[in-house]
Amino acid sequence: MPLTLRRTVSDLESISAAYRTLFSMIEAVEPRVAEATRQELTDQRNSLKLIASENYASLPVLATMGTWFSDKYAEGTIGHRFYAGCQNVDTVESVAAEHARELFGAKYAYAQPHSGIDANLTAYWAILAHKIESPALAEFGAKGVAELSEADWETLRRRFGDQRLLGMSLDAGGHLTHGFRPNVSGKMFHQRSYGTNPETQLLDYDALAAQAREFRPLILVAGYSAYPRRINFAKMREIADEVGAVLMVDMAHFAGLVAGKVFTGDEDPVPFADVVTTTTHKSLRGPRGGMILSTEEYAPSIDRGCPLVLGGPLGHVMAAKAVALAEARTAEFQTYAQNVADNAKALAEGLLSRDAQLVTGGTDNHLVLLDVRNFGLTGRQAEAALLDAGIVTNRNAVPNDPNGAWYTTGVRLGTPALTTRGFTTSDMDAVADMIVSVLKSTTPTTTSAGAPSKAKFDLTDDARDASLTEAQRLLDLHPLYPGLEL
Ligand code: PLP
Repeated sequence: MPLTLRRTVSDLESISAAYRTLFSMIEAVEPRVAEATRQELTDQRNSLKLIASENYASLPVLATMGTWFSDKYAEGTIGHRFYAGCQNVDTVESVAAEHARELFGAKYAYAQPHSGIDANLTAYWAILAHKIESPALAEFGAKGVAELSEADWETLRRRFGDQRLLGMSLDAGGHLTHGFRPNVSGKMFHQRSYGTNPETQLLDYDALAAQAREFRPLILVAGYSAYPRRINFAKMREIADEVGAVLMVDMAHFAGLVAGKVFTGDEDPVPFADVVTTTTHKSLRGPRGGMILSTEEYAPSIDRGCPLVLGGPLGHVMAAKAVALAEARTAEFQTYAQNVADNAKALAEGLLSRDAQLVTGGTDNHLVLLDVRNFGLTGRQAEAALLDAGIVTNRNAVPNDPNGAWYTTGVRLGTPALTTRGFTTSDMDAVADMIVSVLKSTTPTTTSAGAPSKAKFDLTDDARDASLTEAQRLLDLHPLYPGLEL
């Protein structure tokens, strides 16, 4: 099974020729799109990408997305569609679900969500359907919501709006779909957030249990976008059980580490959670998309994702999910996942040995959260200075961030993408050296009022040029889609 990018291409010349033909077709219709797409490859090839949520999908995954499955409507479920002629969509959706079940050891898998946010919304409404709507229908003696009287329907709608969700706060590393008020999840539920221990910055399971006992959520959400540590899902299950909550895990960020068997035992969410949501394009290295896994109990409600939340599934993306999940079932993917974690550790150690400060003091997953306050910078300045120096990152809040969510005090760094290119632990040490050198050579400019700016900065030419040269050396060592010439 071809997996790594360099081994995917058996006949690079003919594949390059095929791509060139496809591009000439696009060019004939809209040359600006052809040009931007070519340029995107050049830019991705030439950037040191440390964005923790990004990766590079294999050429088979990318190729699978560019097909006529995009033209087919297939609302409904496998074998039970609201459109005729869906037999081939049935096949690819079944294959994706089968791979997902086998790979993650899940009873049920749903490959239709278009993104991580779709997956979370579908999961929330499926949980509400199972826990709130079904008992209400029985109570009102109705088979479906269409049979409810106006008065019963109003009662049910009030019950939907009266449910509680407890998720990790944004500045502790949670995602905006975990109950952040500006997001729909924060509007549809009464929500509370749990943070991390102020001293250790680690998840505090005792404090969380106390909060859950007091708040008694319908749904306890575990999972993160920017927490650099593993979660003990056995403890999460205990907390959920004690307060009678549904345990939902959003493994969007670390699904690749679960798939690659780096997170096992108590660190694998699937045996413990009622519902697990994920994206397929981050550490899992598939097409952009979402997916839901669950126990048998929740399967019938999730299977009604359409019409509950979703419209027509993206057949071409479900097909690409099937290909990516097949790749993720190989021994080679397990090596990749272990390398992602090893590279993150090497990056963290390289940064710490050069006096950088890290949230929680390190990492044991695929990401590092660098606290840049000891460089006298905001996250926004650090992000921009690093970009000028050829290093692509994103600024991120740290727990109790003094600079808020816009300027921030942190920079999030992740290793899934560079590991796909073949970066090693010694390369990550070189990257740590570049990052610290750039940040040490960056100073905030002074505002007209004499205060340090939160956005503007000066980076010395020498430091920038040295970083750009070193970035190019590393990128040349590990080319992206080697041999592919458009
Ligand atoms: N859940 C988590 C934990 C995420 O980090 C993200 C994306 O960053 C999402 C959900 C949403 O994924 P998408 O951008 O595919 O909607």
